[in-house]
Amino acid sequence: MKIGILGGGISGLSTAIALKQDGFDVDIYERHSRPSEIGAGIVCWPNASFVLDQLGVLSRVAKVSGSLNYMHRFSSNGEPLGSLDISQLNQLMAYPSYSIIRKDLMSILTQRAVELSINIHYQHDVTSLSNNDDDKVRVQFSNGKNIEPDIIVGTDGRMNSFARKYVNGNNEPVYQGFINWIGVFECKNEIFTELSVLDYLGVGERFGIVPVSKTKAYWAGGVVSPNIGEPTPELYKSELRSLFTSWPDPICKIINETPLSRINKIYVHDHNPIKIWHKNNLVLLGDAAHSALPTSGQGACQALEDAWHFVNCLKENINDISKVFKHFTELRMAKTSKITMGGRQVASSIFNQDQEFCKHRNLASKNMDHKSTVIGIAKLWTNGLPISV
Ligand SMILES: Cc1cc2nc3c(=O)[nH]c(=O)nc-3n(C[C@H](O)[C@H](O)[C@H](O)COP(=O)(O)OP(=O)(O)OC[C@H]3O[C@@H](n4cnc5c(N)ncnc54)[C@H](O)[C@@H]3O)c2cc1C
Repeated sequence: MKIGILGGGISGLSTAIALKQDGFDVDIYERHSRPSEIGAGIVCWPNASFVLDQLGVLSRVAKVSGSLNYMHRFSSNGEPLGSLDISQLNQLMAYPSYSIIRKDLMSILTQRAVELSINIHYQHDVTSLSNNDDDKVRVQFSNGKNIEPDIIVGTDGRMNSFARKYVNGNNEPVYQGFINWIGVFECKNEIFTELSVLDYLGVGERFGIVPVSKTKAYWAGGVVSPNIGEPTPELYKSELRSLFTSWPDPICKIINETPLSRINKIYVHDHNPIKIWHKNNLVLLGDAAHSALPTSGQGACQALEDAWHFVNCLKENINDISKVFKHFTELRMAKTSKITMGGRQVASSIFNQDQEFCKHRNLASKNMDHKSTVIGIAKLWTNGLPISV
């Protein structure tokens, strides 16, 4: 059985590794000429760490990432709004949480794929998917090549997924009305005394900092924006300064000292959940199936979970592909939809522009029962995985 994976991002690589470890014959087809370095960082929450362990890479991830202790919340004038205890979450879910630069995670997964002799065909840009007579999908690439494997896994991301369009009829991501400038900051002297997420909330504005070491962090500055604009990198710093100049330390230092080449501006989209994730011999995984907002904190984590579940479903029903796809979708639909909708709910609170609402939101955050909140998060993120709560 030949399996072709369209897209060599976090989902494509992790799925290929999981399949190859179980003896499947798998190839990845990626449009770019090398692993993508786009994006700042990712928190691998314990559910993701479980999967990374299954893929044989958790110790490598641990070496280059930060072990997070807390998530501290503040108002935009520095008033503390409470803290979530990440070590409590780790204990409940029996795995650590790691903050990692996205490029490092990509290079660890790519290295593992190469070790397993998985063929990654770079410069293979999918240009069309069509059915042949027996309802097998034919993939056409812009370099003139085409393939017809027995199973096609569509992991071509959220913004322009051919696989999602093939299954669902369209692949229109939904703009959620806010911008994120994301970046990676590094300095010579230690500035983070502990490795904790710092989350500052304003009115329609937000700045988040995630350290991966005492001298390095990735960050995101966000603001409501009704319209989608053109990328103008030369303006990124002045845009950020005009929004966050009066916010607490170390926000200004981070903006000023992050090289422009390491800042990106993203008009943030997600997808409405869809009920059908497969058609003929093609199945969707990762962002192509269910992309959630960064405010869910779970996009990459859910892509990793998909990989683990998919290979298990395939092993159970190796002779009946449609049963595999149906079972996989049933297993994954409810959890990923809940995470997508949860991400929207968090975003609508974080990016709310009403002064009164934000005053009450901040007060509620201060008075929140953080222990119970962590238990609730652990229950949702553990769901479907053999890790304890
Ligand atoms: C600003 C931001 C911050 C985020 N922060 C977090 C976080 O903290 N934690 C978290 O868990 N998640 C986070 N996410 C989400 C996370 O990045 C994604 O959910 C995750 O990358 C999904 O992986 P994927 O492989 O499905 O998609 P992608 O990583 O987008 O990979 C898709 C791959 O398919 C390739 N491809 C696309 N089209 C074609 C084509 N036509 N032919 C061939 N190849 C193609 C692309 O080049 C790419 O390599 C964030 C997302 C954003 C936008």
